[in-house]
Amino acid sequence: MTGRVVVVGSANVDLVVDVPRQPHGGETVLGGDVRRSPGGKGANQAVAASLAGGAETTFLGAFGDDDGAEFLLASLTKAEVRTDLVSRVDSATGTAFIMVSPDGENSIVVAPGANSRLQLGQTQLERIAAADVVLAQLEVPLEAVTAAAAARRTGARMVLNAAPSRPLPDLDLDVLIVNEHEAADLAGTSGTPEELARILQRRAPAVVITLGAAGCVVAEREIEHLPGFGVSPVDTTGAGDTFCGVLAAALAEGRPLREAAERAGAAAALAVTRPGAQSAVPTAAEVAEFAE
Ligand code: ADP
Repeated sequence: MTGRVVVVGSANVDLVVDVPRQPHGGETVLGGDVRRSPGGKGANQAVAASLAGGAETTFLGAFGDDDGAEFLLASLTKAEVRTDLVSRVDSATGTAFIMVSPDGENSIVVAPGANSRLQLGQTQLERIAAADVVLAQLEVPLEAVTAAAAARRTGARMVLNAAPSRPLPDLDLDVLIVNEHEAADLAGTSGTPEELARILQRRAPAVVITLGAAGCVVAEREIEHLPGFGVSPVDTTGAGDTFCGVLAAALAEGRPLREAAERAGAAAALAVTRPGAQSAVPTAAEVAEFAE
């Protein structure tokens, strides 16, 4: 059975340039050629839900009326994500300026642009009401996330990847996914992943904390640590996004959370062996073969 996933979130054009070192204030540094790649947590997760998760996936986001929008839509369409209900707003398409130095350090400036203007209208709320799983992150206005949670049908699941860290009001959630840093920020304290998961279960009945190469912790009634899949990482950009998209797709298919997290971990491990974010997302067939 194919599940239906609606992703409510951001899309950004990532403009990446290699620099010999990070510039100081007021300084100009010459870099290499600019590379452009499709990004933004929402769009990355939608590509993962569709391509690696095999879900019928709709992306609800906001774009400007510019070349960046066409570039991002092409990547979503290539992954068979439905983009018929994206909004066009009078603002530039979201753009991230990323400077990468040889020590691997990144400096990033995000210009959210159209993402910060996302509003959900009637037709978009109707698509949400037809979904098995609604997946959101925090790079779009909280009002859109709240509206999406309210519009889901009974029995459908609301999954929030609470990234990037920002203060969060009470939301009606079924599953909360965070990495270790976001978990500590949201819990307002430090602790083991298991301790943080228990604290965060005040916000959602099910919590998943991702732990990079160490896998993840899944907390429902029981708490379980699922170890990571051993791979040689090439580029960890978008690992968390692949994880979230595939987890949502597996839940939409009717799999239990633990099994969904297992599959998500396999897909994310494969993604870190490849460069890029959306370009690193494996196919469902590759995930199935790897997870065997
Ligand atoms: P984020 O990218 O949001 O910081 P993590 O670094 O925790 O998130 O990675 C998300 C998931 O990706 C992990 O739970 C794990 O399943 C997978 N992953 C990340 N890095 C590796 C790695 N080096 N080897 C294997 N799996 C990885």
